Parts: sequence; structure tokens; C-alpha cells
Amino acid sequence: NTFAEIDLGDALNANIRRCKYVKPTPVQRHAIPISIAGRDLMACAQTGSGKTAAFCFPIISGIMREEYLQRPRGARTVYPLALILAPTRELSSQIHDEAKKFSYQTGVKVVVAYGGAPINQQLRELERGVDILVATPGRLVDLLERARVSLQMIRYLALDEADRMLDMGFEPQIRKIVEQMDMPPPGMRQTMLFSATFPKEIQRLASDFLSNYIFLAV
Ligand code: AMP
Repeated sequence: NTFAEIDLGDALNANIRRCKYVKPTPVQRHAIPISIAGRDLMACAQTGSGKTAAFCFPIISGIMREEYLQRPRGARTVYPLALILAPTRELSSQIHDEAKKFSYQTGVKVVVAYGGAPINQQLRELERGVDILVATPGRLVDLLERARVSLQMIRYLALDEADRMLDMGFEPQIRKIVEQMDMPPPGMRQTMLFSATFPKEIQRLASDFLSNYIFLAV
């Protein structure tokens, strides 16, 4: 019942201690082992439940564990390994702040891209390299259309506050984004869907995007 008991790797465990997290919250206690085991996950979790760490820890740990030697390097196109989608600028920037703390000295690079802010600075930041991209759906579609980001190498996809993204009308953008991830061989991508509520629309998203998933309600 401590983070030390979950094998997340030394660097990540040190960051968890630095954040003064000792005991996993309920969603973390269940979601992290499921994700480490490689299973897709649909989790009903509220704000404040610790869901950010629940999807960040397995992603960071997984990226640290594997070597992605064949990652292409386009002139201006970047190939993140993980994508975290969130509904708003505020939430994506909050996730980015936390993910940066968690990935300190792990070699894992986190970049955020949200709408309502100039794109040029985000493009410069992306060009310096990105392993985990945190993005709002609209801004990501823009980056994809400019061919500045490719989702061909995505191994981890997390959708945070999926119900809110649908309420805000982002379903077409989300579907467009996920369609671009059909390149990796089946089973190569691990998907985590977090939502506070579980209406029909979210169930449909889960059955379209997740394979053989575990449902978690905390
Ligand atoms: P979240 O639900 O991800 O927005 O997290 C809510 C708050 O709880 C954030 O301030 C986190 O830093 C904090 N938090 C998350 N997990 C833990 C934990 N295991 N122990 C202590 N604080 C935590």
C-alpha cells in the first residue's frame, strides 16, 4: 500500500517521494497496476482523486523502461510516444506541470499545446523534442494539419475528463486524432480513458478506442 511496492523505476520513485506522495489514492492503487500490466482502462474518477498521477506514472515508467530506437526524426515533424488529451487550457497546463515534476531527471520530455495561446512558442518547444504531449483536441488537430506532430509512434493514449471533452463538442476532433494512431501494430497502443460520468456516449467512445479493457469505478 505504498508507492515503493509498485515497481515504477528508481527515478520515478524518487520523484514520487519528492512530491511527498506516500500512499496511493484509491484510483492510483487500482489503475497503476492495471496499466503497468499493459491493459486498457476505463476509469470513473473525479477531480481530486489523484487521477493525474494514475495515468502519468504508468506512461513515464513505460517510456523509461523501453527503448524506442526506431523513432523517426522528421525535419519539422515530432513523434511523441504518449498523448494526454484534456478539455481545457487550464487542465492541460495543470497536467503538464505535474507530469514535469514526475518526469524530473528521467530523460522523459513533456510538452503542452493548448488553444487560445500563440502557436509559435508551442512549435518551438515541440521542435526541441517531446516524449509526452499534453494537448487540447482543437490545438492538436491544428498541429496535425500543419504536419508538425505525427501520432504514428504513440504507444500510450490518455483521455482525461472525457465526458467534459464531449460536452464541449470535441468528439469529431478526438475521433480524427485517434484515427491517426492506427499505424502501430494492434496491441502496441495502450489507452486509458478517464471520465467522471459514464453515459452512453462515453461507453461508445470506450468500445471504439479501447481493446479488452478493464472498467474501474472508485
Ligand atoms: P488530481 O485528482 O490528479 O487533480 O490530484 C489532486 C491533488 O492530490 C493534487 O494536488 C495532487 O498533487 C494530489 N495527490 C495526488 N496523488 C496523491 C497521493 N498519492 N498522495 C498525496 N497527494 C496526492
